[in-house]
Amino acid sequence: MSETNTFTINDLNRVRRLAYRGHYDRATIYPIVDEALICHVGFVQDGQAIVIPTIHARVDDTIYLHGAPASRLLKLAATSEKLCITCTLLDGLVLARSAFHSSMNYRSAVLFGSGRLVTDYDEQWLVMEAITEHVAQGRWADVRRATDKEMQSTKFVAVDIETASAKVRTGPPGDDEEDYALPIWAGVLPLALTPSAPIDDPRLMTGVTAPKNVSEYRR
Ligand SMILES: Cc1cc2nc3c(=O)[nH]c(=O)nc-3n(C[C@H](O)[C@H](O)[C@H](O)COP(=O)(O)OP(=O)(O)OC[C@H]3O[C@@H](n4cnc5c(N)ncnc54)[C@H](O)[C@@H]3O)c2cc1C
Repeated sequence: MSETNTFTINDLNRVRRLAYRGHYDRATIYPIVDEALICHVGFVQDGQAIVIPTIHARVDDTIYLHGAPASRLLKLAATSEKLCITCTLLDGLVLARSAFHSSMNYRSAVLFGSGRLVTDYDEQWLVMEAITEHVAQGRWADVRRATDKEMQSTKFVAVDIETASAKVRTGPPGDDEEDYALPIWAGVLPLALTPSAPIDDPRLMTGVTAPKNVSEYRR
């Protein structure tokens, strides 16, 4: 963890348009990263920009990724010094009176860092636990632990965050003054990721029921 709680603003992470929506403090950025179930990892291969969605987990100033050893994402992420990871939470549709001012309420984070292959066995276990817990808090205590063979057939990558930003939009539409006199519905349609009732695996052992961290799942 760095000594200050705010990332230095530089040319890479400075939010330019509607700059007042930009945030650079960990206290704003990290809850977005932690609430987002997935991230998108951007990297450049042979001059081509590529963005791939994947599961992540954050531990302090590090984002962990894992997956199949053959994954291009993980191969390149493990050696790339210029990765960009984004996390996006959609909070609502902002339906303005005009198409121009229609927007979305959101909390998004953009993180920059370099990747490294996680080879230390203890750190690999930390990643397994962090990702399992990121997806469903409390699940680590319930799942069968990975075998050595499963650990060996998983690639673990750490992305140490060097700088980051968040952008947050909240509130109603910002229509042009003259448009408020128009008889057009305007407002916010809130959106949230909410689970439905759990569906038992057809091969579930008789008598086994969903634990509370599943039946009462919340992000
Ligand atoms: C759900 C959603 C919908 C959006 N829809 C639109 C749209 O339709 N049109 C549009 O112009 N913009 C949209 N945005 C905003 C968009 O993400 C950029 O913020 C916008 O393009 C302006 O970027 P910029 O030119 O100021 O910064 P850029 O020069 O593109 O970026 C400079 C730096 O600012 C930071 N930054 C920029 N945007 C974000 C962000 N969203 N979150 C965190 N850090 C950021 C990054 O560190 C980046 O490297 C949307 C954002 C979200 C999350």
